[in-house]
Parts: sequence; C-alpha cells; structure tokens
Amino acid sequence: MTQRPETDYEVIVIGAGVAGIYQIKRLIDIGIRATVLEGSDNLGGTWYNNRYPGARFDSESYTYGYSFSDELLNEWHWKERFSSQPENLKYLNYVADKFDLRRHMQFNSKVEAAHYNEEHGIWHLSLADGRKMSSRFVIMAIGLLSQPTLPNIEGMEDFKGPSFHTYYWPHEGIDLKGKKVGIIGTGATAIQIIPVIAEEADELYVFQRRPNWSAPLNNSPISDEEMADIRSRYDEIFETCSLSPGGFVHRIDPRSFYEVSREERLALWDKLYDEPGFGIWLANFREIFMDEAANEEFSEYIADRIRQRVNDPVTADKLIPKDHGFGVQRVPLETRYFEAYNRDNVHLIDIQENPLERVTETGLRTAAGDHDLDVIIYSTGFDAMTGAFDHIDIRGVGGASLKDKWFEAPATFLGMMVHDYPNLLMPNGPQSGSASTNYPRGIESGVNWIMDLLEFMHEHGYTRAEPTEEAEQQWTAEVVEMYKIMLMRKAKSWFTGYNSNVKGHEAGRVRHLVYNGGTPKYMARINTVAASGYDGVRFDTDPAVDEKETARSLA
Ligand code: NAP
Repeated sequence: MTQRPETDYEVIVIGAGVAGIYQIKRLIDIGIRATVLEGSDNLGGTWYNNRYPGARFDSESYTYGYSFSDELLNEWHWKERFSSQPENLKYLNYVADKFDLRRHMQFNSKVEAAHYNEEHGIWHLSLADGRKMSSRFVIMAIGLLSQPTLPNIEGMEDFKGPSFHTYYWPHEGIDLKGKKVGIIGTGATAIQIIPVIAEEADELYVFQRRPNWSAPLNNSPISDEEMADIRSRYDEIFETCSLSPGGFVHRIDPRSFYEVSREERLALWDKLYDEPGFGIWLANFREIFMDEAANEEFSEYIADRIRQRVNDPVTADKLIPKDHGFGVQRVPLETRYFEAYNRDNVHLIDIQENPLERVTETGLRTAAGDHDLDVIIYSTGFDAMTGAFDHIDIRGVGGASLKDKWFEAPATFLGMMVHDYPNLLMPNGPQSGSASTNYPRGIESGVNWIMDLLEFMHEHGYTRAEPTEEAEQQWTAEVVEMYKIMLMRKAKSWFTGYNSNVKGHEAGRVRHLVYNGGTPKYMARINTVAASGYDGVRFDTDPAVDEKETARSLA
C-alpha cells in the first residue's frame, strides 16, 4: 500500500492564547504529534499583548479560569473579582508550566500562509521567518480580537512623540507624568484606560466619536475565605455558567419587563447597578435586548446615572449615546470612568462635532483647532473575528482563499469548520459559541468538541473531515436568523462586523459574525451533531494512507 507523505506534525495549533493553551494540553494528553505556533515571543495572547493601564477581566475571574483540572482550580487564588492583566498573564503562564506545555510551543513563529494540498490531504504552512511546516490538521486558535486597527488619519507618521495602539502598549511601560496625552476612541479599552491615566497625565484629551453605554464594574478583592468558598462551589459555578446564555454567573431575570411595575423595574436596576460585573446587562429583563420601548426606558435609566455622576451637564450629555440603546453593543464596564471627566485635567473632545483632520508633528488637529500632545494613544479597536484570519493567506480546496470567501460575511459550520477547508478547525471561530459569551467557557466547549471529532476520526480510520456546503449554509442561516430578533442588528459595532478602519467593513452592511443563541442552545446543537456521528460533516479515508501509519499518528 502507498505510504502517504509524512507531515511534520499531525496537528498544528496556531496561537498560544487562552484557546491554544487548552488545545495543546488536550492534544498532547492523548499523544498526538502537535505543536503550537505563536507569533509573539511568549504565550498569553490577549493577556500578553494588551498591557495598557487598567486592563482587566470583566468576567468574574473564577469563571474565566480553565475548568478542566480540579488540581488547578484548587491551587489558584484569584486575588480580585475582576483580575488585572498582569495577574491574568501570570495565571496563563502558571497553567502552561504546571502542565509542561511550553515545550510544545514555538514562539516568534508567525504563520503567514496555510495552503491545503488536496492530493495528499496536507496543510502546508509558511512562516514569516521563511520556515515551512506541514500537518494533517490545522487548528486556528488565533483569537477574536487580536488584529488591532488604526484609523486612517492623514499625517500619522509625522507625530514626533510616542504613539501606539493600545494592543501594543509598550511592555516596558510609559511614564505619562507631566505629559499631555491624547487618546482616540471610547470603547471598552479606552473606558478602562482613561480613569487610570487621568490620574497620571498632566492633561488628558479624549477624542470621542461616539460615546458608549457603560456601567460600573464594582471590582473588589477576593479574600482567602471567599476563595475557599469559591473553590468549594466550582462545580455549581460552572454549571450556572453553562445554563446562562452568556456563559456567566448572571442569569436573565425570569420576569417579563411588562409584567412588573415601573417601581419594580427601578428596584432591579438600582440593585444591578451596584452589583459586580455584567448583571446590569445580562441579569436584566430579556426585553432589553429585543424590544425598542423596553430598551429605551432602561437606556434612559442609565443616562440618568451618567448625569448624576458627571458634574458638567454638557459633558454628561456628550457621554450619553444617542444612536443606540444600552446593551446592543458590547457593554464596557468601568471603574470611575464618568468621574474622570470631573477632573480639571481631563478634556472631552467631540470629534463628531469637530472631526479629526490630521495628525501634526506636535499633536492632533480637529476642525476646531490644534491640540498639542506629547503622546497619542490609539484605542481604536480591532478587525474583529475575521481580521486575524484575513492576515494569514489561507487557501483550501482548489486554492480558494478564505479571506475572499468571508469578505462579505463568514460562512461556517458551527463556527468550527468551513466547507472547502478540510481539517481546518476553529475552537472559537466566527459564528462559534465563544464569540458572544464568557470567552473561556466557549473555548473549552470548542476544544472539547474538536477533540471528540479527532477521536471519532481515529476510531473510524478517517483522515479528512469537511462540512458539506448544505450544512454550512444551514448553520449560517441560523446565525443570520438570530440577528433578526436582536436590537443589536442595528448597532454599528464589531458584533455586526462594522469597522470604519477596514475597507469594505464600514457601516451599512451587517456581517453576521456572532452566534446569538446563547450557551445552552449552542451546546445542545454541537452535542447533537457529535451524537449523530457528525451529521453535516463529510469524512474520507485517504486511499493513499497506510492504515498502520494513521493509527500511529493519531494514537
Ligand atoms: P471598540 O469597542 O471597537 O472601540 C473602538 C473605539 O475607537 C470606538 O470608540 C470608535 O468609535 C473609536 N474609533 C475607531 N476608529 C476611529 C477613527 N477612525 N476615528 C475616531 N474614532 C475611532 O474597541 P475596544 O475598545 O478596543 O474594545 C473592543 C472589544 O475588546 C470590546 O468590545 C470587548 O469585547 C473587548 N475588550 C474586553 C475587555 C475586557 O474583557 N475587560 C476590555 C477591553 C476590550 P466609534 O464607536 O464611533 O466607531
């Protein structure tokens, strides 16, 4: 029997972030020849890169950690309810070291291309440093928000001082004392940064195009006693997450918005506003997400809270969104964000009123005049979901480019597989369960599903898996259909594929990037597919494969 060509690895995982770390753990546990290729010089993904002041979870820390190891759960002490970036990176390093995963990771290994060779059923990868690698499977653990985008403002190269995107915050830190700092953007990232650097910078100019709805994070330390209690309840905590649409500990209020009085609604909102985390969004009435009138009443409640916290009424009004209601975009959680605008050294510059015209050698010019700055921070977001994929030249059957296929909008099967891209797997791809949920909870489900698929293939001697076109169309139609009931469909945000800095993804056309059905529905769906023997996936056995070799490589 003909031997199939050897590959360097059976599985190559791209990305050593939260997803890649768990993925490689599961692969090496069953002895698969696998490696992780990571572009950065160390592991951690999001938590390696985003080192800006104030960066922290807005998922409860103990729901963000991995759930796969009781030993790990019992060893790790989360210090804060919403843990900060340095601690999160420490955690991921701790996990990698504890399970000896680092030796399966190759850093400074940026993948530039992945091409599928149909004749041999092999993926060929090209790295930025010229290396070539091959594998039977490629697992894309490249993150949803890992491709930062800069605005296209004239003169950006002219600025004489330091300027950088928040994703590339200098690892050595930057001293902002005595400096005039400008920050462009008021998304979740900026909302974390602004109150922190307001205390350090001499003057802080916030260049805001559209304000975001935001509510308090209400962070606090976790004592030894509380951590012991959390440890004793981990099963219950993860169970709660698995039953909530968002994969959080917050459960939607079971009552209808309309069946309770205005007083009862206010009582709930007052309570949620003072509680930690996403409760204000996710433990609210379900109508907030779908019903214009309910959403408007709640948005007005939050607007009042903003007015109470910001001294200057004109500034307060500018901080209140007018073009969308609360929670139809991803809600940033804040710590004394609104109070930052009560400081004399913080200036809100409305760039909708007076657009940014150019970057000069010494600062930023708006239609109203020049602002002299020492440092410019671009907090201008990401080419979400598909951006990181677009930066790798991925070609499947017949040389088809994934970037082209997904340009209008992604099409996937369960957010984990793509027709015409055999053996390309995504634990957290566009349209998967992790995109709009507590990220690691979704990741673990995705990785587990992929591992079951690989084991199924091994049991049956299959070497190639590809979703059918019909299955892909059906899943994508389900994803599209779910947008129709959500107010979110009207928002200009990364949930709808909007990005003013990416050609073709400017406002106007909704790209259905996110699965909105929630965790329980997603889990039921993917488990049903697995239980059916992967209905919707076509499996093949490569005729050129020596069976003994297959067994050896997947064993
Ligand atoms: P973002 O939410 O997309 O915000 C980008 C900001 O930059 C917006 O205010 C946007 O204004 C502005 N902007 C973009 N291009 C601009 C331009 N050309 N001119 C002027 N303003 C421009 O990005 P982000 O704040 O980095 O957050 C992205 C996502 O990361 C969040 O939604 C969240 O999922 C995640 N995140 C999570 C955490 C956490 O877990 N704690 C923290 C931070 C971020 P417009 O709104 O007008 O477009």
